[in-house]
Order: sequence, then C-alpha cells, then structure tokens
Amino acid sequence: MVTLDSVRAVHLTVTEESTAVTHPFLDLAPLSAGRFAAIEDRVARLLGTRQDVVVMQGEALLPLEGAIRAAAGPGTVALNVITGPYGQTFGNWLRDCGATVHDLAVPFHTAVTAEQIRGALAEHPEIDFVSLVHAEAATGNTNPVAEIGEAVRAHGALLYLDAVASVGAEPVLPDAWGVDLCVIGAQKAMGGPAGVSAVSVSERAWTRMAANPNAPRRSYLSLLDWKERWIDGGRKALLHAPAQLEMLALEACVERIEAEGPRTVMARHASAAAATRAGALALGGGLEPYVREARDAAPVATTLRVPSDVDASEMVARALVSDPGLPLAAGGGALAGEMIRINHYGPDATRGAVQGSLAALGAALAEKGLKADPEAARRAVEDAWDRPVGSGLSEAVTEA
Ligand SMILES: *Cc1c(COP(=O)(O)O)cnc(C)c1O
Repeated sequence: MVTLDSVRAVHLTVTEESTAVTHPFLDLAPLSAGRFAAIEDRVARLLGTRQDVVVMQGEALLPLEGAIRAAAGPGTVALNVITGPYGQTFGNWLRDCGATVHDLAVPFHTAVTAEQIRGALAEHPEIDFVSLVHAEAATGNTNPVAEIGEAVRAHGALLYLDAVASVGAEPVLPDAWGVDLCVIGAQKAMGGPAGVSAVSVSERAWTRMAANPNAPRRSYLSLLDWKERWIDGGRKALLHAPAQLEMLALEACVERIEAEGPRTVMARHASAAAATRAGALALGGGLEPYVREARDAAPVATTLRVPSDVDASEMVARALVSDPGLPLAAGGGALAGEMIRINHYGPDATRGAVQGSLAALGAALAEKGLKADPEAARRAVEDAWDRPVGSGLSEAVTEA
C-alpha cells in the first residue's frame, strides 16, 4: 500500500542520488541569451554572411519548412529545382502554401546548369521564388550555386537554398552568391548532431515574409517570431527555453571546424570524394560512379551504381558484416536496388574510411563472383587523395 510516508521516503532517496552523481548531458546549466547569440554569430562567420542568422532547435527540416511557409503564399510563383528527393519535398510544401509551382527536374546522375535556370526564368517571367538544393547527400550531386545565384538575382526572384549537405564539405557563401534563405544543419559535413540547424535571412526575404499574411506567426515554425521578438529586440530575451544540449553541440562542432580550419576540412571532403571516385573506377566489378561527370559530384558523399544483376542493399549488407562502422548505405526509396552511398563526411572524410569502404565493397563483389581489383582500388585512392582536386573546387576552396 502506498502511504504518504513511503512516497516521502522514495522522494528523499531519488533526491539524494541525483544530487550525488552529476551527468554531463543531464545536469546542464541554462544557456544564456548571450551565449545563444554568440553561437549564432559563430555560425554567421562560418557562412561569411552579414545577414541575420537564426539558429533553430530542431532537425534541418524545421528551418527548411519554416522558410518556405514564411516566404511563399497564394501569390507566389516558384521555380522548384529537383535534383534529388528534397526538391520533391519543397515542391509539395510550396503547393501546400498555395504557390504556383514550376518544377525543373534533372536526372539524379547530373547537376542543374545556370543555363537551364535562365531558360526556365525566361519561359515564366512571373517567377519570384527559386528553391534549390546545393549538394544532395542522397544522390551525390552538387549544383553550381554561384552561377545560378547570378541568374536568379538578375531576374529579381528570392533564392532559397538547402545547404545542409554542402556546408563544411564545400564553400557555402550566401552573401557572395545572393542567397536569400540559406539553410544548414549540423549533422553532415559539420560533423555535429542532428537536431540543430540554422538559416540565414536576407533583408529582402524578411520583407517578403512580413508582407505574407499566411506566414506562420506565434508558431514553432515561425521565423518572423524570431525576427520580431529576438533580433529586433537586440537578442536579449529568448522565445523559449533553449535546447542546451543541441546548442552546446553546435558550438562545439563549429569550434572544431575553426580549429582544423574550414579550408582544411573542405579539402579533406574534396579529397575523400575524388579518392572514392577514382578508387571505385579502379575497383571494377561493374561498379560505376552514379554521378557521371566528376564536376557534378558532391564532396560530401559519393554514390555508386551497381551492375544490373546486383542488388545494392544486399551488397551494402554484405560489406557491413566485416565492419558495421563503415559509412556505407544503400540509396533511399526507389534507388535502394541500384545505388550505394559512401557517406564520407564529417569524421568519415578520411583515407581510412574511404579505403575501408572500398575494400569491404571489393570483398562483397568477390563473394558474388564478380571480378574486382581491391589492390588497384587501394593505390588509386592513395594517388587521388594527395592530388590537388579539380580546378573548380580548389579555386572555390581558396576563395572561401
Ligand atoms: C541530410 C539532408 C537534409 C536533412 O535531412 P535528414 O534526412 O533528416 O538528414 C536536408 N537536405 C539535404 C540536401 C540533405 O542531404
């Protein structure tokens, strides 16, 4: 029987135990508004931006959806560029907001060109919003945002960019490229946790949101709430209790990138991509880079196409038996049978992760009776790792 005394006794025991042992994740001091603002400033420096940066305490889908719902409404005419699965999601949100959407879909094995964007803008001059994914971890391609930004600016539309998979792996420069809404997340090349993200917002984008009667207000999705109650108030008072664990992790991962040097971190991702591509070609066994041109291949992750009689998911499962820690995955959804992803990002942008992944895939191919040359792959990885990366990338890395 539960008596008042027994409840008191339990309460006492729990209180004594919990004060006796402090836990690094659990017994955190509240995060001050000043510390929160300092973390935002640090993220802004990483992006080289003078725009407002709002850190959002949720996985990157929070600012990705929040920015679309804030900026788009029934009067919006959007050009939605689809180079992978996220573009499809953005199109659905835009339609849900009542926007008129023109989809520009390109095959997942390639990138969109600025020329294609200019063509679409010329065909539909009323377009006032462009949504684009920078790099796609899911398909392994990366799009030329600098050139696209120029075309979009000349047209006068807002540019919304998903840079979740590119930030940390290659330059992401919202101001230099004219990006109005640039969303990043910590969980890919930044080497941080999922659950914290950020968006940089241009003055033009704030104006568009303020004029949109359908933009979320007094809502967890609302960017305007952060503008009105946090930024315009001089960043003195937070809207709600900040998620300390995520915020401290974001601070730590930016700190680690600063300590290694952003250029070094990006060069490591570029080397990992070049080495994986070269290694996969040398490995043989019917594996081919999924993204046909090296210049369209993302530094964050490399996708491979398996021979038509091989199941990619099964290959990955076999390869992971030898080392479950390798950054290997099969493609998502419809791509699960034909695509292998090597997620060489964050702490996995290393020679070891690339060599280990290709060796395990080589062994899995051999088990299936396919001819692979793991030694040639190993040498190709070593050669490519040290070779200066393709001109476009190395220039961009130097600029950043
Ligand atoms: C990883 C990623 C995200 C974040 O989505 P999750 O699937 O939750 O990791 C968003 N956009 C792009 C382009 C990504 O690669």
